[in-house]
Amino acid sequence: MTKKTVRDVEVAGKRVLVRVDFNVPIEKSSGAILDDTRIRAALPTIAYLREHGARVVLMSHLGRPDGQVVPALRLAPVAARLGELLGARVEAADDVVGPSARAAVEALQPGDVVMLENVRFEPGEEQDDPKLAEQLASFGDLYVNDAFGTAHRAHASTAGVAKFLPAVAGFLMEKEVDQLGRVIAEPERPLAAIIGGAKISSKIGVLRHLLSIVDTLLIGGGMASTFLKAGGVAVGASLVEDGQLDAARAIVAEAAERGVDLGLPTDAVVAERFAGDAASRIVALEAVPDGWMILDVGPQTVQAYEAKLQPAMTIVWNGPLGVAEWEAFAQGSRELARFLAKSQASVVIGGGETVALVSDLGLSPAYSHVSTGGGAALEFLEGRTLPGVAALQDR
Ligand code: ADP
Ligand code: MG
Repeated sequence: MTKKTVRDVEVAGKRVLVRVDFNVPIEKSSGAILDDTRIRAALPTIAYLREHGARVVLMSHLGRPDGQVVPALRLAPVAARLGELLGARVEAADDVVGPSARAAVEALQPGDVVMLENVRFEPGEEQDDPKLAEQLASFGDLYVNDAFGTAHRAHASTAGVAKFLPAVAGFLMEKEVDQLGRVIAEPERPLAAIIGGAKISSKIGVLRHLLSIVDTLLIGGGMASTFLKAGGVAVGASLVEDGQLDAARAIVAEAAERGVDLGLPTDAVVAERFAGDAASRIVALEAVPDGWMILDVGPQTVQAYEAKLQPAMTIVWNGPLGVAEWEAFAQGSRELARFLAKSQASVVIGGGETVALVSDLGLSPAYSHVSTGGGAALEFLEGRTLPGVAALQDR
């Protein structure tokens, strides 16, 4: 990447303020951490800093406390899990920039790790308040951003603090930017994208940007219904965004203009109602029964998509092809996940639900890259500059 990383700076003996994204799913009743992928993903940076004698001060958010102290969103359990993974004690402060945080930072010895309280307990965090940023910066001699998942937000701990300290990327940030960057800048061709998920409105930016770079674009998920309806197909009670019909038509037209091979479903798994146990069957697209809804792509579509993906050297996938949370409508997405796991192409996967899906199948290690950033990965693929990346020093 074009930004400096922890490798480019001296960290020994320094207090290093590190923004991580430990926004992990937590079970409401017990407070148990349901998935620690995001904690594990930051371990290389934290381990490197400790091994090189840095005093490590971690910052993260958890959930949406909206500037207030919400006891269920305290980071102590996250700090404890991090401690287990590191095999070292991780002190958890019970405030962000208050006396507890200050005392914990002052007591740090080289190799020690302290975790500040949930930064979003402070109202200044999401407002990118320079006062908060300066207070946070006073805890470090150097700032490291390893929170790719929050890099699309200009908050005090993700961007503001970089105005007060030398700012470099951590290893996770570097990997994400390099891997996602390979897709949109000088990819090995043919380049194919599969875009699914619920709504065309949330993916329109990514669709438009990808159209200008891909050779093949395959559409699935709920948004396919909007494309199909725009093309005159009767989609019954399927999820359709009527306000996006013109946008869908524009994308189809632009794909034709650019010579992009645009794939739309040719068959579907339809259900009588929106429920995991609804009556369902596989139909050709011309035969969606009145009042039924498309909840997954059908086997013929999956086969056709696989054939189109066969020659690709780079493939990016965002958005499930169906309502993959429900067994009955997960087949298309699962089949695609398995196909991509065997593909010789570099395969990059992003998006919250999509990543959860491949990780549930135990397939994550089979791909070139599985992004830890949902919204951040999407914005990156839209070609946008992420504030958390922009704030870092150029190499
Ligand atoms: P990601 O988080 O990977 O970017 P999205 O959030 O865009 O993906 O979309 C995931 C959601 O899309 C899932 O909750 C899934 O149930 C929904 N979805 C997929 N296909 C359909 C469909 N045919 N009808 C309604 N919802 C769908
Ligand atoms: Mg999502």
